[in-house]
Amino acid sequence: MAVKPWHQSSRWPEGVPFDIDGYNKPVFAMLDDAARNYPNATYTIFQGGMRTFAQVKDTADRLANFLASRGIKHEDRVAIFLPNIPQYPEVFFGSSKAGAACVTCNPLYTIEELNYQLKDSGAKAVFCMDHPQFYKTTCEAIKGTDVQTVVICNIKSYLPKIKGFLGGLLGKLPKAESHDPSHFMYDDIIASSRPEPPKVNFDAEKDLAVILYTGGTTGVPKGAELKHTNFYSNVVALNKWIRVPNRPGERPGPMESGGAHTFLGVLPWYHSFGLTVCMLGSCYSANRLVCIPDPKAGNPPFTEVLKAIQDYKVTMTVAVPTIYTAFVNHALIKKFDLSSMAACSSGAAPLPPEVLKRFEEITGGVIFEGYGLTETTPVLTTNPTFADKRKIGSVGMPLPGTDIKIVDLDTGLVELPHGEDGEIAAAGPQIMRGYWQRPDANAEVFREIEGKRFFLTGDIGHIDEDGFVVITDRKKDLILVGGFNAYPKEIEEVLYTHPKVAQAAVVGVPDPSSGEAVKAFIQLKPGVTATEKEILDFCKDHLAGYKRPREIEFRDELPTSVVGKILRRVLRSEELEKRKK
Ligand code: AMP
Repeated sequence: MAVKPWHQSSRWPEGVPFDIDGYNKPVFAMLDDAARNYPNATYTIFQGGMRTFAQVKDTADRLANFLASRGIKHEDRVAIFLPNIPQYPEVFFGSSKAGAACVTCNPLYTIEELNYQLKDSGAKAVFCMDHPQFYKTTCEAIKGTDVQTVVICNIKSYLPKIKGFLGGLLGKLPKAESHDPSHFMYDDIIASSRPEPPKVNFDAEKDLAVILYTGGTTGVPKGAELKHTNFYSNVVALNKWIRVPNRPGERPGPMESGGAHTFLGVLPWYHSFGLTVCMLGSCYSANRLVCIPDPKAGNPPFTEVLKAIQDYKVTMTVAVPTIYTAFVNHALIKKFDLSSMAACSSGAAPLPPEVLKRFEEITGGVIFEGYGLTETTPVLTTNPTFADKRKIGSVGMPLPGTDIKIVDLDTGLVELPHGEDGEIAAAGPQIMRGYWQRPDANAEVFREIEGKRFFLTGDIGHIDEDGFVVITDRKKDLILVGGFNAYPKEIEEVLYTHPKVAQAAVVGVPDPSSGEAVKAFIQLKPGVTATEKEILDFCKDHLAGYKRPREIEFRDELPTSVVGKILRRVLRSEELEKRKK
């Protein structure tokens, strides 16, 4: 099939350059630039409390000064175990200014999961908050790690008054169980530190800004090493790509800076989609960011979200399909004025076209679906923000500066013709440096093609006649639960530690609210009995909510290959057949 290069397609948005430049900078240069150009513009908004770019920069500078006094230096790791509170960008930029790589941690993590991440990354400091879910977990999780500094954030000083759903986040600070390593209150260290970050020599092209944990293609949790330029280039490319009306009724044009737009910070910022596209995207474009912490994380208080959209006239939304689904099914959605929502990005999992249609009818905004991975900071492709240029059902075109090839599924080396399904491979300035201390995993995912380093995504798809990428399947065992990643191997390992379990296999099954859900098949040890509840209760102690099986099926034996390997795919297709009936 003769196909034009993607950037010559008639669907390529008018005015978008084919390439990008000007991204060879440390990530905190976004904040410094915004604070210089728009010092008095609002950056963070939180329950009526607002902070300007100049205030956020001042706080980040003080934090960097404090971290340096605690011995944090170039490429040391600083963990952030926080929901979307207004301190998040301050902590992120402050740690970067101290030269550290931030290790962003899922706020849903159990003690075990957090402990693994702190140990594996060798984090020396951790930021948490004065809520039992975060502080208690942190006190336990730092045991046996290199953490020497714990900083406890408190949202009270960021609120004009305390009200509404946040009451749940203001639980009493439990007594510290350990005073070694040292614990500090955030507000105290800001008050007592100078706004003078240490002098650090950055090589933005090589140095780490973040280590972000993911299962990758194999499911073993490992850190993706994301450099300063990975973030900077992705934000610059997105900003060039996005065309959006600044005011209702206006013709879409480049995004204005300095407060013309308000971003909805509902997606967790520990994840690359929320971190890059929302938290950093709003900073780079010097626009406003509404902080929506989620006490239960993964289950945002929707009436509050709708109210925030109406009150702050949100124009930019960064969300996953489960959030859009929750929007359209919310009983009160028509009671709120959501007409300010202009450009809404969706990613992390496939967006059902019906949800897109209903959401756009209700709000009048445009959803543009994109695609990427933690390892790619994350955005690789996105649909144009013009409704007439996009293709519903595809994940769009490669971002400026990004090269996508479809390669042979077995070798990852031979490029396949357009229209043919193969593994999606990507090259570009957003591709990670590698996996943290995992040379074996690096060898599996990087291939040199035509002199360029390509990353193998583990996703299967093709490029259509207009240069749009269509995802059709997954080579890896990933289960996408509402945009969160669950990996069978990790869940099975927990199930195997249950004293009654002989064999376990975990698969993803369709679920109307979360897209996919986890189902476990279990073969018990001879002569024992167990209930579903017993196994589910056991999982609660070891796995974050979205990784826990929604359903357990006990079997006398599990299907295996001739060499005795449990065949997950047989269980999955049996399950899909059963659901069709
Ligand atoms: P994560 O590392 O958590 O960002 O997960 C990355 C994975 O999410 C990709 O490898 C895909 O399997 C999946 N993914 C991301 N965006 C989409 C999308 N728009 N449609 C389908 N799957 C997606």
